[in-house]
Amino acid sequence: MKGTVLYGPRDVRFEERETPKILKPTDAILRISATCVCGSDLWPYRGIQAIAEPTPMGHEYCGIVEETGSAVKTVRPGQFVIGSFFASDGSCPHCHAGYQSSCQHREFVGTAQAPFLRVPLADGTLVATPGIPPDDLVPSLLTLSDVMGTGWFAAVAADVKPGGTAVVVGDGAVGLLGVLSAKQMGAGRIIAMSRHQARQNLALEFGATEIVTERGDQGVARIRQLTDGVGADSVLECVGTQESMMQSIQSVRPGGSIGYVGVPHGVMLDGAQLFFAHARLHGGPAPVRRFLPQLIDLVWKREINPGKVFDLTLPLDQVAEGYRAMDERRAIKTLLQP
Ligand SMILES: [Zn+2]
Ligand SMILES: [Zn+2]
Repeated sequence: MKGTVLYGPRDVRFEERETPKILKPTDAILRISATCVCGSDLWPYRGIQAIAEPTPMGHEYCGIVEETGSAVKTVRPGQFVIGSFFASDGSCPHCHAGYQSSCQHREFVGTAQAPFLRVPLADGTLVATPGIPPDDLVPSLLTLSDVMGTGWFAAVAADVKPGGTAVVVGDGAVGLLGVLSAKQMGAGRIIAMSRHQARQNLALEFGATEIVTERGDQGVARIRQLTDGVGADSVLECVGTQESMMQSIQSVRPGGSIGYVGVPHGVMLDGAQLFFAHARLHGGPAPVRRFLPQLIDLVWKREINPGKVFDLTLPLDQVAEGYRAMDERRAIKTLLQP
């Protein structure tokens, strides 16, 4: 088969690779129905995160189980399944606590931009949908593998409550789905920070009540003004830069919560500033697996349509263009079809 390999900055190739096969009795092999490019793939793509050697890419996936190892019990060939970017055993203390992305036996699933994928720890990682989904549901189901689960975790970690005020920092796919998640959880006001018209429109469609276009100190001043000087109950930090983190800490009210899910790059926090902010901080790699059953149900009943974040669909062999379009911000998120 052919798969996606990153060779260096802006050098993505679709080239011959070995077709994955069962290596351990707990593995499953999937035939990928759809995969996509993640905002976090752009860090190594842009050379900000160095890679030591040519690296296969892709960690968001859904598809049909092709084959299972002899120890796999909960999924079977022919089922449509979704899994997280971290495989988890489902049985260790961290999995039981709902932090499957910190599983003691976690393994990164990082070769998904390909027609076939080996998923380790299949029983603890994969969740089957109620049946084979119609084609139009596939994009939304794919988002549950990462971006929707991550936006949802941002809202959970930010303790979004019915009637509360939520601020969403970041207008990438995760931020936009953070808006959708805050809406589902009943936030009364959802302030989305975005400068891009198409993203603002999608934020409004997903439930944002206000848009703030300012950034940095001016963005903070605008949030303060909109909340009568109080600050927001919940802030969803969906970027991972120093600026976005500081904007979040300065926008939250005393006693409020920040859910941070943007992978930090060069973020340094000042203990004294945190101390006096009276803020709760909770974040990390989203335990997507915890939310899969609930989110599959919401998509299956067509109560949410997170697949709208895909504004570019390409055949998998054009994956390089998928990266370019996101890098140049011509696309919010690229869906790839094998
Ligand atoms: Zn991702
Ligand atoms: Zn575990």
